[in-house]
Amino acid sequence: MRKEIQKILLSESEVRDRITTLATTINKRYEGQELVVVMLLKGAIIFTADICRHLEMPLQIECLNVASYHGGTESSGQVEFLDRKLPDLAGKNVLLVDDILDTGLTLSAVSREVQALGVNSLKTCVLLAKNKTRTEEVNADYVGFEIENEFVVGYGLDYQGLYRNLPYIGILNVENL
Ligand code: 5GP
Ligand code: MG
Repeated sequence: MRKEIQKILLSESEVRDRITTLATTINKRYEGQELVVVMLLKGAIIFTADICRHLEMPLQIECLNVASYHGGTESSGQVEFLDRKLPDLAGKNVLLVDDILDTGLTLSAVSREVQALGVNSLKTCVLLAKNKTRTEEVNADYVGFEIENEFVVGYGLDYQGLYRNLPYIGILNVENL
């Protein structure tokens, strides 16, 4: 383990196993239907890549570029859409995928925006959800793991752009950076 990581919260195999069962649930929900997975860059890249390989319906993958944290460990409280053009999602069954549900600001702002594109159905999926009272009344339909209110990195999640490539979810050792 790297010295910058204080503790491994979820190991590579725990994450892998959970993703497989989550995919089974999603496969059942969308049986016989087409699905568009819309991932939020960049945090959801690795989670999306892994879960999509277990999805069996006709699948399209799109991405949205939004920013809320701007590299620090505290939410800026604002969601910024960085795309010039949003994907055409009219009439589609959309599954919005993000890495983590924290304040809920990102998922609720993006959900509103996606809903406004005239989708047929919209559900949300996150790898992690922090166990806390959220600023925004939002719940994800599919959640990989509920975690305590700590700042985590790895498996797509960054601290100042780093650590996304770690194969596990860990807690940063802030004193040892
Ligand atoms: P929310 O809008 O729900 O507060 O935050 C969602 C976004 O904030 C996530 O997509 C993620 O980019 C970032 N975020 C929230 N909590 C954490 C965390 O513990 N670690 C990291 N690396 N990013 C987080
Ligand atoms: Mg993010």
